[in-house]
Amino acid sequence: MRIDLAAQARAAGVRRDRIEMREITPTQAQQSDLARLYVAVVRVWAIRARERVLPAYKRSLSEQRASDSLTIDRAGEVEVEIEAVEGEAVRSIFTFRGLFQAWADAMQRWHMGKVISQLRYAADVDLSTQIHAGDVQETMEDILARNVALVRNVSDQTRGRIADIVFRGLQSRTPAREVAKEINAALQLGRKRSLRIAMDQTQKLSASLDRDRQLQLGMKKFEWVHSGKIHYRPEHLARNGKVIPWNSEIGKKDPPGFQPFCGCKAKGVLEL
Ligand SMILES: [Zn+2]
Repeated sequence: MRIDLAAQARAAGVRRDRIEMREITPTQAQQSDLARLYVAVVRVWAIRARERVLPAYKRSLSEQRASDSLTIDRAGEVEVEIEAVEGEAVRSIFTFRGLFQAWADAMQRWHMGKVISQLRYAADVDLSTQIHAGDVQETMEDILARNVALVRNVSDQTRGRIADIVFRGLQSRTPAREVAKEINAALQLGRKRSLRIAMDQTQKLSASLDRDRQLQLGMKKFEWVHSGKIHYRPEHLARNGKVIPWNSEIGKKDPPGFQPFCGCKAKGVLEL
């Protein structure tokens, strides 16, 4: 629902010609909470690789030594174990879905609370009964779908790496100890990717909520606040402090926080 904040602010006696919001920056804790949800899916692979895949690998390897003709069958046993873990990983993605939804809802409520409290002071307007979770439903649905796809991809990638390691290992008769090390390295890649995704998706949700709320409140422009990150985009740094319309090329195609790992923020600007 659109809200005419400018009219309400004027009615409340605000005489300035513009109202500026402060940037709303997600916390490290919010990011870590999301990372934990991703890592939980990698952990299913970590635990079961140790409990199921590696023991099957060891059995296959020793039986392979006893008779070369068994090679194909024994690879089959490892495959069965990987399939079983896959089933468990898929169930953990269902769990992820629910937990992600709770995480995103909490983030949304937190963001809405920031908007309300900032504008209570800056515009002397009480938005608490005017803005609702349902206003940003599309953003919430998009971010959920995107993250379920991402976690599934993290799981698939981990499975692919583990399968590759064990099947190559069987072919070259790599000792189980070596294979275990390789699997650990693969799991570590999955964990690292989880952290990167969590950082990026936290930023993305926060950036989408900024845009949704600003447009809802009739803020047609935003002030670009550069992230100050080490690996920044020079063109983003050049925009620092500039006031940019949401309906401009930049506002539509490359707004703050939408490019991968962009930590830039949009400060809402309302002209009265
Ligand atoms: Zn940026």
